[in-house]
Amino acid sequence: MLARLSLKSVLLLLVFTLYTKISLAESSADLAEFTAAALKIEKLMDSNAVIAHQQLKRYEDRLAELSLKQQITYHYLLTDIHLLQAQYHIAKDIASLGLSLTKQLSSPSLSIAELLYSRGFANESIGELELATQDYESGLEIAKSFHDKVQIATGLTNLGAIYYLTDRYENSLMVLNDAYNIAKQTTDEELKGSVNSELGILYAYLDRSQQSMSYYQQAYQHYKKANKTILALNALANIATNHLGLKEYEQAIDVYKQIIKESQGAGPSEIMYSTYSGLSWANLKKQQPNPEASYQYLLIAKQFISSIERHDINLQFSSDEAFVLFELDRLDEALVSIAKVEKILTAQMPLGRLKMYTKIGITNLKSKTYFKLGQFKQAYQLQKQRLALTEALLSKEHTRSVSEVRLELEAKQADLHKKVLENKHALQELALNEASAKQQQQRNYLISIAVVALLFAWLLIKFVQGQRRLHKVSSIDMLTGIANRRSLIKRGRQLFNRMNTKKAAFSVLMIDVDHFKKVNDQFGHHIGDKVLQAIAKLGEQLMRKTDVFGRFGGEEFVVFLPNTSLEQALVIGERFRKSINELPWQSKLQLEQHISISASVGVACTSELKSEEKEDLDAVIHVADTLLYQAKSKGRNRVCGYA
Ligand code: GH3
Ligand code: MG
Ligand code: MG
Repeated sequence: MLARLSLKSVLLLLVFTLYTKISLAESSADLAEFTAAALKIEKLMDSNAVIAHQQLKRYEDRLAELSLKQQITYHYLLTDIHLLQAQYHIAKDIASLGLSLTKQLSSPSLSIAELLYSRGFANESIGELELATQDYESGLEIAKSFHDKVQIATGLTNLGAIYYLTDRYENSLMVLNDAYNIAKQTTDEELKGSVNSELGILYAYLDRSQQSMSYYQQAYQHYKKANKTILALNALANIATNHLGLKEYEQAIDVYKQIIKESQGAGPSEIMYSTYSGLSWANLKKQQPNPEASYQYLLIAKQFISSIERHDINLQFSSDEAFVLFELDRLDEALVSIAKVEKILTAQMPLGRLKMYTKIGITNLKSKTYFKLGQFKQAYQLQKQRLALTEALLSKEHTRSVSEVRLELEAKQADLHKKVLENKHALQELALNEASAKQQQQRNYLISIAVVALLFAWLLIKFVQGQRRLHKVSSIDMLTGIANRRSLIKRGRQLFNRMNTKKAAFSVLMIDVDHFKKVNDQFGHHIGDKVLQAIAKLGEQLMRKTDVFGRFGGEEFVVFLPNTSLEQALVIGERFRKSINELPWQSKLQLEQHISISASVGVACTSELKSEEKEDLDAVIHVADTLLYQAKSKGRNRVCGYA
């Protein structure tokens, strides 16, 4: 994100710089229009990566005709487009190509730093943290040689985050502090927001919730100033999580409600999921618990799961579900959810540090459930297991390094105090005594904070969404490159309101792939993914410019059709259904076996609705959904509208 963010914020500038310098460029065969096109493509990227990609691709064959700098810009845009679509391996290769081009430049250029940050982010996203570190460090060197404050602070922030992700907390603290001081000298509010945010996360890792809180609050203010709504929401989500960690449940609830209000119910799925599951947790744990409300919030959270591309989201959900069901005394169901969690964890053995927290938490819950059921022997065995797991975890490197950095911080804070002490204890003997006492004290301290850190870190992974990832998933669906649920609904709402004031007809198509589970089961998840990508592409081609098309979640798509009557919408729906069904899937997917793909479509139009439904987009979507299920029950592969 940061890599990309910075890229984006300076891209315009960069392209302009290129543009003005182009007259001086060596080649006379430049495609003059490329520079203008590059600007447009950059703007398009956030709303529609697929079309941006298509437009950029037009220059693929004529790459040699572009000037060197234009070629670098081309690679740089292409990297970004792939990063946006979470195609990190390709992005990495393209960035590398771009970087090899920069070797031919006659003088150094800031765009090398840009490309390095981009490749660093690709590396980071595929888990190549060492390579990411190298890229960020090299990029930073270049930024420094240009004395470019924004790029320097961006590089430092990237590094700071990588350091805490790899448990190098002290390094992280150092570079983030530097980034903070440099960012302060700029007017870049977004940059200031991200430095504060990363510092907040670092302090949360170090179990320093109070500091963490104030950084998140500053981040929120900066993002607000920069008009970065989503990032501001994310800062609020972090604040709420911190309240949960501090067991300040009422405050957490207030902040979550603020998120719902500020997002107008259309925040990114990650944040909305985090919000509703956080509300669920707060209602479960607050002084006067309300397990019923907790359960209801969890059900709302569940609706966002299908549009979240994180692999551990089901783990998180089932674990939450288990806790709530336990409090509701629905013990048998709680055991079912616990079994789901265990199954996912078993599939992921050996468990990383963060998953271990879940394992310990869920083992404890299982023990408590058996206890309530009167099966004391199992309960006892499970407690023994939990203790063994906890000990294993505490002996791990990580806990030590967190604790050490924290001791270091304590020591620095107590530095003055220590100096006074040292003066007093001039005698060597006394000093020795002190040292051994201190050692014992340190050990006790380590153990006690490790336990606290354990609980807190578990909350952290449950609720703090990867801030660094969020930037990229703001409006585009990662798998298909088309609008995601959030931007789909947002744009749909704008369109709907406009049609409503004009009293023009507005139609909604709800499309759901038939028996998609079977496709996954029979051919594998990656084939399922390709089917969804192909359907997204079909939709893009079929829809008019004024229509809004996007992924609603899972294998469901929605189209909003302005100025469109029911009859017209039915025709469009039928055309879409037919083209899905008639695509030569077997050859397209390069399969040996026959494969048949179909979809069912529900069509709603405001002209056919009762007056109160007409006023409310959610109601219209609901009607389309009901009609979709009618299509399913009538045998699938068909379109249903108001008869
Ligand atoms: P129906 O005809 O009634 O719609 O049946 P179905 O199997 O399509 O419906 P169901 O809702 O039971 O299953 C939807 C499946 O879609 C389950 C889920 O694993 C899968 N799915 C959701 N998102 C993705 C995705 O991004 N990629 C892949 N490959 N599968 C997905
Ligand atoms: Mg479905
Ligand atoms: Mg389906």
